[in-house]
Amino acid sequence: MRKQIVAGNWKMNNDLSQTESLIEALKAKEKTSNAEVMVAPTFTNLYQANQALKESNIEVIAQNMHFAENGAYTGEISASMLKSIGVETVILGHSERRAYFNETDEQLAKKVDAALANNMRVIFCFGEELADRKSGNHEAVVESQIKNALFHLKAEAFKNVVLAYEPVWAIGTGETASPEQAQDMHAFIRKTLADTYGNEVADEVTILYGGSVKPNNAQEIFSKADVDGGLIGGASLNADDFFAIVNAI
Ligand code: PEP
Repeated sequence: MRKQIVAGNWKMNNDLSQTESLIEALKAKEKTSNAEVMVAPTFTNLYQANQALKESNIEVIAQNMHFAENGAYTGEISASMLKSIGVETVILGHSERRAYFNETDEQLAKKVDAALANNMRVIFCFGEELADRKSGNHEAVVESQIKNALFHLKAEAFKNVVLAYEPVWAIGTGETASPEQAQDMHAFIRKTLADTYGNEVADEVTILYGGSVKPNNAQEIFSKADVDGGLIGGASLNADDFFAIVNAI
């Protein structure tokens, strides 16, 4: 049985006191689904958030990290630094990192290796742009993103990899992929995995959908066979909305 996950990416939002308020609101919510729940505050709030959520069933995760262990990389954070404050999972390859910080598949492959070498779990994001979808190139783009960053891994490494399909045209735009578009792509991703790693690996990998998931569309998207949960941006900043999505699984 695959793990179901709903993860909230808070991006560059919320100072310390806003983070504390949101965490208090989240702690007051009741989880009625079996989904694992995660939230990704900014780096400056990770330690406090992790302390505050220690006894809860919400995991605190990071939005990014560098591939090097330490050294002259001003402004960067390593896997072992995250681990040292109890953070066990990291989001890598978010489309905003790719677009605004020029992260390449090659760099992402190194980040994935560094995270896994530190026994961290990776939520690996990828997805096509609108032009790729319009030209019918979306599957080829997604296939190359996954293959370039992940297909050097051994099969057992996928136990610690969660995939997050996030079509760029649906992120923060209010435009969601239809449940059928999400299912079609997730099935394609699973088949791509199966072709190289076999059905057992492909069937066990959790594949999240991300892109304008809201309380009013979550249930239909999550009802699709190959959609195992969601990576949530905007709606994760509101405790009511986020838990409505968590409980939609
Ligand atoms: C995201 O940034 O990962 C995301 C899915 O954002 P939103 O839910 O706001 O579209």
